[in-house]
Amino acid sequence: MAKIIDGKKISAQIKDELKERVEKENLDVTLAVILVGDDPASAVYVGNKKKACEYIGIKSLSYELPADTTEEKLLGLIDELNNRDDVDGILVQLPLPKHLDEDKVIKAISPIKDVDGFHPQSVGALSIGQPGFVSCTPAGIIQLLKRSDVEIDGKECVIIGRSNIVGKPMSLLMLRENATVTVCHSHTKNLEEVAKRADILIVAIGKPLFVDDKFVKEGAVVIDVGIHRKEDGKLCGDVDFEKVEKVASAITPVPGGVGPMTIAMLMNNCIAAKDLK
Ligand code: NAD
Repeated sequence: MAKIIDGKKISAQIKDELKERVEKENLDVTLAVILVGDDPASAVYVGNKKKACEYIGIKSLSYELPADTTEEKLLGLIDELNNRDDVDGILVQLPLPKHLDEDKVIKAISPIKDVDGFHPQSVGALSIGQPGFVSCTPAGIIQLLKRSDVEIDGKECVIIGRSNIVGKPMSLLMLRENATVTVCHSHTKNLEEVAKRADILIVAIGKPLFVDDKFVKEGAVVIDVGIHRKEDGKLCGDVDFEKVEKVASAITPVPGGVGPMTIAMLMNNCIAAKDLK
C-alpha cells in the first residue's frame, strides 16, 4: 500500500510558517483580488483565498465586478493597483468571461505583483532560473515532494499534461531540482509505456480516473493534479486512486492532496512579493 502524501497537513504547516513570519517580522502585506462575473466555482476559490489571507495576517482587497465589465475598465483597475504602493500582489481570478482577453489581462499585471506567476516575464524568469513568481500549483507540488522526503535529484520524472499553468512550469521546476524530465500530452505515442518509466509521475490532464495501474511502475511516486466532481457528488482526480495505490510507493489523494497546496503557495507568493520588491 502506498504512503498517502497529505496535502492538507503540509499546506497547514506552510500557512502556519507564513503566519509566524508575518507576526515576527511585523509584515504589512496586501493582496488585491479581482473577480469578474458570478461563476460559483470562482466565487468559492476567491472566498477560500480571502480566508487564507485572514488566517495568515495578509490584508485582502476585494474587487467584485459585473460579468459585462469592459476590458478597458478591468485594465484600468489593474493599472491603478499596479501603481499603488500599499498593494503587494494582484490576482485576477480565471477564467474570465469570454469577451475579455485573458492573455492581455495577465500581461497587464506588473510582474512584481504577479502572485499567480502567470505573467510571461515570470514564466521566462523561471525558465532561465532567475528570481520571480512561480505558478502556485507546480510550486506546491515541489513542496509536497520535498516535505514528504521524496528525492528528486537524478530521478526520472514524467509529467502528463503541458498546460501553461501546470504541466509546463512543473517541467521547469523539476528540471531545476535536477530530475530527468519527460513531458507527455495528447499527441504522445505509447503513453502507458512512457509513464511507466517514471520514478515520479505527475498527472495533470483534466480527465477523471484516466491513469490506472497500467501507467505506473512499481514503487513510483504519483502526484494527481486533476479534480473532478463525480455523479455521486464525490471528488476524484485524473488518477484511479484505488488501483494505483496498490503499485505506487506514495500518492496524493483527491481531495486533500495537491488542491490545498495551491492556496498555501499563493500566500507564500504574496509574502515573497515583499522580498522581490
Ligand atoms: P488543461 O486542460 O489546460 O491541460 C490538459 C493537458 O493534458 C493538455 O496539455 C493536454 O495535451 C493533456 N492531455 C489531455 N488529454 C490527454 C491524453 N489523453 N493523453 C495525454 N495528455 C493529454 O488542464 P490543466 O489546467 O493543466 O488542469 C489539469 C487538471 O488539473 C484539471 O482537472 C484541473 O481541474 C486540475 N487543476 C487542479 C489544480 C489544483 O489546485 N488542484 C490547479 C490547476 C488545475
